[in-house]
Amino acid sequence: MKKILTFLFTFSFFILFSQNKTPDYFYVKTNDSLPFLQYGLGEDRLGSAKMNFLDSNIILKVVDSFKTDYKVQLSQLHSAWIEKKNVIKTQSVNLSEHLTDSWKVFGDSLFDYITIQLDEKLPYKSMMEIHPSRIVVDIFGARTNTNWITQLSTAKEIKNAWYEQPEDDVMRVFIELKHPQNWGYSIYYSETNKLTIRVKRQRIVLSLKNLTIAVDAGHGGTNIGATGIRSNIKEKDYTLLIAKELEKALRQKSAKVIMTRVKDTTLSMYERINFLRQKNPDILISIHLNSSDKDSVNGVSTYYRYIGFRPLSQAILKSMLQTGLNEYGNIGSFNFALSGPTDYPNCLVEVAFLSNKGDEKKILNPKFRQQVVKKIVAGIEAFLKNL
Ligand SMILES: [Zn+2]
Repeated sequence: MKKILTFLFTFSFFILFSQNKTPDYFYVKTNDSLPFLQYGLGEDRLGSAKMNFLDSNIILKVVDSFKTDYKVQLSQLHSAWIEKKNVIKTQSVNLSEHLTDSWKVFGDSLFDYITIQLDEKLPYKSMMEIHPSRIVVDIFGARTNTNWITQLSTAKEIKNAWYEQPEDDVMRVFIELKHPQNWGYSIYYSETNKLTIRVKRQRIVLSLKNLTIAVDAGHGGTNIGATGIRSNIKEKDYTLLIAKELEKALRQKSAKVIMTRVKDTTLSMYERINFLRQKNPDILISIHLNSSDKDSVNGVSTYYRYIGFRPLSQAILKSMLQTGLNEYGNIGSFNFALSGPTDYPNCLVEVAFLSNKGDEKKILNPKFRQQVVKKIVAGIEAFLKNL
């Protein structure tokens, strides 16, 4: 009996104590340092797998902490991680039961838009789908009260828009596109908490003349990248040579070209992505040279992150194989920073391996580099022609 009483006493004390405890969570807001959600805490060369970039001032509930990251609860069933440097602490908010208002679908001279009024800047996650070509956006903490969706004929690329409520606190936005090719989209909030999904339209005339192509020379400055196995050449110098050659070739085709760097400049991924975001290109081509621990590994490869952007990387790889380089492959879901933006189709080209003698010899040859550039241009043209 005494034992039971002691137990009951301890138990009720425990209950009392736990009730008085301060909550073991707090709230943060994203800052404008290009914050992104991560699925987990992976620590390989490319870091944790990224979910997507977030706008600034998004409210997140922190429920755990590990080294440089916070674990955030997005909804009852979903959590993610975010780097501590991407957020600042903020006052407590109620993150459940946010009702959505009616939507509007419309266009201006450049883009199509979907706007959804919310009363708080809630976190979201976006996905690209193919066949049919769709953009799917989950809004966490949102419960639909959208009783109508106004669709105007000024919208040219958005074919259909609707929602589902797959979970009590997750609203899913579906945007069906008119064209099979996804030309990119951006998600942001207005100051009045209006969530906007801005959709890029497919150009009516698909030729290089009408397009702005961004060219990114990998590495630069203090970031030298890989080095040649025999020659010791630096990756940063040869990516720049190829990028400049590509710029010239694209200009000859009357394309507008944007270069992330034209000199031996140190540029962070943040600076590159921010610069590209301001310039709003139609396509991004990133140039790198590969390296492997095994010196027998060789060949050309192209990379994409989102399935909707795959066709560009496939067309470029197919064209580049005509240079006689071996195929290293077309690599998807690639967690490279510059493959992360959804704003424009992008392709990372790893021309060949600096760690392989045969490939290195080719990279050193200016005639071969010209051939590479020609084939990248032909790849972009083939991609456009297939649409
Ligand atoms: Zn590189």
